[in-house]
Amino acid sequence: QSALLNERTGRSREMYAQASVHLSGGVASSYQGRDPWPIYIDSGSGDRITDVDGNEYYDFHNGFGSMVQGHAHPAIGDALGKRYPLGTHFAAATEDSIVVADELARRWGLPKWRFTNSGSESTMDAIRIARAFTGRDTVMKIFGSYHGHHDTVMVSIGVEYDKIGDRENLASLPYGAGIPQAVVDMTIAVPFNDAPAMERRIERLAAEGRLPACVIMEAAMMNLGVVLPEPGYLEAVREITAKHGIVLIFDEVKTGLTIAPGGATEKFGVTPDLVTLAKALGGGLPSGAIGGTEEVMAVVESGKVYQVGTYNGNPLSMAAARASLFEVLTPAAYERLAELNDRIVNGCQAVIDKYDLPGYAVGIGSKGCVTFATEKIVDYETFKGAQDVPLSELAWLWNMNHGIFMTPGREEEWTMSVVHSDQAVDAYIAAFDSLAAALTEA
Ligand code: PMP
Repeated sequence: QSALLNERTGRSREMYAQASVHLSGGVASSYQGRDPWPIYIDSGSGDRITDVDGNEYYDFHNGFGSMVQGHAHPAIGDALGKRYPLGTHFAAATEDSIVVADELARRWGLPKWRFTNSGSESTMDAIRIARAFTGRDTVMKIFGSYHGHHDTVMVSIGVEYDKIGDRENLASLPYGAGIPQAVVDMTIAVPFNDAPAMERRIERLAAEGRLPACVIMEAAMMNLGVVLPEPGYLEAVREITAKHGIVLIFDEVKTGLTIAPGGATEKFGVTPDLVTLAKALGGGLPSGAIGGTEEVMAVVESGKVYQVGTYNGNPLSMAAARASLFEVLTPAAYERLAELNDRIVNGCQAVIDKYDLPGYAVGIGSKGCVTFATEKIVDYETFKGAQDVPLSELAWLWNMNHGIFMTPGREEEWTMSVVHSDQAVDAYIAAFDSLAAALTEA
């Protein structure tokens, strides 16, 4: 499958040679790379994209879940077209930012908002706000969770199984070089779906005089495929954090606007103190947001914390976000997403059952995946222990060769857009069926 993909992407190969001269590794972000060369994209429209070799794909990657609106949505195009002639940047707030903040406050039930330009900026600022609010330095996160590329959260992800450490005392290890050990030591990780383990760790930290400022987590983990919270888990976390005066941050960079109008907060009915958004908010334009309670966000309002950025609330991003919230991501759109996701999850599960494959299909909102594993994945430890890596990687190549553009690697999930057709979903299921048939024959 790898050789076949290479054969079909000759122009990408040429572009890679050209790109590598001045673009490090030939790509703009390390996550865009691929061995032996990346696939360069030419264009996208609706639920499809075309690469520079002219290969067409149904897009289930959707820019790591940013494009839940679909590519080149006319409502967003119109909003940008109207905004551009009026000027695109003033480093001063525009009316759209007020309307967007009001709508996010309504959807999340959190009254105070600020804007950023990416998920990493949102989580970085949210953690600073939590530290300022509590006067504490330690940060608690979930082992294996990704929250962006700033130092504090580039810890305890992508760790090899034998280096995880014991469950009660999980390792804090940097993800790549360049992260100071002093920062790594300030980030403590606990396993997902295990509230008692979180509470024990918090109590031990309290005894050491190191109570965390915050717990930052995704309500449903979105970088081990899709791992849903077990019943009662989020409620327990809410209770434990409240008890210790720890700011609970739901990182909804992926789940926000993709799994329900008010994200995981609405879906699971547990409200954090702070929420971070990005990706789907801007309909493909760089954007992010932080929402919070009056009490916690007061550190921003009082000027105690500098929550700043030249491009925060950029007029183009805000125009796109406004159009997206009011014209594209409507209640009817979320019903359609649920319908599409049911179709793909059920279709994939039927294939798994038919061929008796080791794994299961899982989905929520517009997101989901086929998890190739011998047992249910509930946290990083089970992910590392049970996931079938070669099969997951083969599935990605197979998809690419069958006109399905998917997130690279085995940690991600599909994101459906509101303009995905039944036909696109059926193509995904058919590709999966053909992979299962080929595996069974082999
Ligand atoms: N938080 C989560 C949960 C994410 O999935 C990501 C990106 N995949 C980020 C934060 C960082 O967002 P960005 O890449 O926009 O900085």
